[in-house]
Amino acid sequence: MKNTEIKNKTAVAPASPGTCGCKPPMAPNPETDMTGMYVLANALKANGVEVIFGLVGIPVTEVAYICQKVGIRFISFRFEQQAGMAAATYGYLTKKPGILLTVSSLGFLNGLTATANATVNCYPMIQISGSSDRVAVDLEQGTYEGLDQLAIAKPLVKAAYRVNRPQDIAVGVARAMRAALSGRPGGVYLDMTVPALGGILSKEEAAKLQFVPVDPASETYPSQDSVKRAMELIASAKKPVFLFGKGAAYSQNDAKIKELVEKTGIPFYSMSMAKGLLPDNHPLSAISCRSMIMEQADVVVLVGARLNWLLSRGHGKWNPDNKYVQLDVEPTEIDCNVPIAAPVIGDLGASLDMIIQALPEYKLSMDPQWVKDLQAHTIEANKWIQAKLAPSPEPMDHWDALRAAKAVLEKHPEVTLINEGANTLDDCRDAIDMSVPRHRIDCATWAIMGMGAGSAIGAALATGGPVVTIQGDSAFGFSGMEISTMTNFDLPITVCVFNNGGIYNHIGVNLSNDGDPAPTTLDLNARYDMMMEAFGGKGYYVTTPEEFEQALEAAIASRKPTLIDVQLAGDAGKESGHIGYLNPEPLIPITV
Ligand code: ADP
Ligand code: MG
Repeated sequence: MKNTEIKNKTAVAPASPGTCGCKPPMAPNPETDMTGMYVLANALKANGVEVIFGLVGIPVTEVAYICQKVGIRFISFRFEQQAGMAAATYGYLTKKPGILLTVSSLGFLNGLTATANATVNCYPMIQISGSSDRVAVDLEQGTYEGLDQLAIAKPLVKAAYRVNRPQDIAVGVARAMRAALSGRPGGVYLDMTVPALGGILSKEEAAKLQFVPVDPASETYPSQDSVKRAMELIASAKKPVFLFGKGAAYSQNDAKIKELVEKTGIPFYSMSMAKGLLPDNHPLSAISCRSMIMEQADVVVLVGARLNWLLSRGHGKWNPDNKYVQLDVEPTEIDCNVPIAAPVIGDLGASLDMIIQALPEYKLSMDPQWVKDLQAHTIEANKWIQAKLAPSPEPMDHWDALRAAKAVLEKHPEVTLINEGANTLDDCRDAIDMSVPRHRIDCATWAIMGMGAGSAIGAALATGGPVVTIQGDSAFGFSGMEISTMTNFDLPITVCVFNNGGIYNHIGVNLSNDGDPAPTTLDLNARYDMMMEAFGGKGYYVTTPEEFEQALEAAIASRKPTLIDVQLAGDAGKESGHIGYLNPEPLIPITV
C-alpha cells in the first residue's frame, strides 16, 4: 500500500491579489475570506464535478489540494496531454465535461493538444489552466511562464474564456459547462489568471456569486417538416442503411436506436466507436459490408456520424445517385461535403422520438433481397476474417495475438477496450466484435497516436470497470509513463503492447546505411512488462497466443494494473496499416 497521505504539507503561499481589481482586506481573515482557488473548487463541486485530471505546479497546486478537500477526486498524471486524454474520454463516457487542470505555459500547451483533439471528436471537456497576470503578458514584459494562453487556445477549441477576478470564477465555470455540453459537445478552455486564483473574496460574497447553470445541455427538437422529409425518403428507399457514429453512442439513446432498427428492419453499419451500439453480430449488422453499402445503398441515414475522410467524404466508391438523411445536432455539419437531401437538426433523442412516432404513418419499400444480400456478404467476409485469424508460423503476427485477445474479450463485454496503433488499430477493429455500447475508444476522428494510457485511465474512472488497451509499441511509447498513474491509483487497467519493434514494423532500412536505426525502427527486444513491474504492477511477457490468452484472462480477473508485452515478429505489419494511401506518392520504398 502506497502512502498517499501527505502529512506536514508545505503550505503553498497564495499568490498576491495583485491587479484583480477587487479590494483585498489588509490581512485576509481565513474565518471570513477565501481565495479564488477556493471559489474555483467550490464552483466545480457545485456543478457536480466528481473527478479532475491534471498535473499541478505554480499557480494551481493549491487548487488541486482544495479540490480534494471539498470531495473532488484529483487524478495526478505525469504528462498533461495524457491527463487531457483522460478528461476527454471521461467526458465522452459520462456526458459530463471531463475536467483537466494544467499549469501555465508548457503545461497549458501540453494539455491543449488533448483539448483540441476532444473538440474535433465532439467530446465535452474543460481545460482549466493557471496563467500569468495578463498585465505583464499583454505588455510582453517577460514574466514567469508568461504566455497569452487565451489567444492560443481560441482557434483550437469550441469556446475559450479568461477569468481575471475571483468574483467572475462562478460565471466562468458556468459558461464553460454550458459551452462544453450544449449542442455539439466539445473542448472548452478556461484561463484562470493568478489574480483570479489568488484574489480574496469574503465568504459571504462568494456564496452570493455562486450559481449553477440551469439545463446546460437543453435538448433541441427538429422541425416536423424535416422529420417528414426524412421519413418520405427513408420510406421510398429500396436499399436503405443506417450509419451510426460516435455521436449516436455519446448521446446514450441506446434503447431508441434499437427500437428504430428493429421496427424498420433496416440494416446498420457502425463506425469504429459506435461498434456495440447494437451488437456487431446482430442479424441486421452490416459491419462487414462497408464497400457494398457505399456502392449500392440508395438512402444512407447518418445518425450522429460525419461524412468526413473516414467515409471518403461521400465521394469515391459511394453510389453517385444515393441520397443522404442526416440526424445531427450541429447545423453547420450539413452539406459540408455532399448535399444532404434530408437534414434533421436536433438532439438525437428528440429526433429519434419523432421518427419512431412517425413510423406507423409510412410504408417502407425496402427490397427484402437487400438484407439477404448483405447477410450473404457478411458470411463471406467473416470467412475472410477467420482465415486471417488462423494460426501462422511463430513468432506471432497481429492476427495471432488478436485471436487470443478476441477469445478473451468477447467473453468479457464489461471490459472497455482502448485501441491505438496502425496495424494494431485496423486489425483489432476488424477482429474483435463489440456487443455493448461505448466500450470501444480509439484514436477517433484525427486518427492520432498517443491517446491510449490517458484514455484508459479516463475510462477506468468513468466506468469503475475493467479496461484493456491494445496498443502498438510505438503508440504505447507516447504515454508509457502513465503506467505510474495506473499503479499510483491502483486502477483495473491491462495494457497490451503489440511489440513488433517499430512504427508499422521493425524492418525499415536506413538509406544511408550509417548504422543508425531507420526512422520507423524501435527496439524489438524492449521488455515493456518490466516497466510496469518497476512501478509495482504486474508484468507478463508472452510469445505465443496461448500464453497471451492466459495472461489476459488473469489480468482482467485481477482488477490490478498489468502490462502484457505481446512479442510479435519484427516483420509483422505493413506501412501505415490501412491508410497507406494517404501518404504522398513515395519515390523510395520505406520497408524491404
Ligand atoms: P464517427 O467518427 O463515429 O462517424 P463523428 O464524430 O464523425 O462520428 O460524428 C459525430 C456527430 O454526432 C457529430 O457531427 C456531432 O455533431 C453529432 N452529435 C454529437 N452529439 C449529438 C447529439 N446528442 N445528438 C445529435 N447529434 C450529435
Ligand atoms: Mg509497432
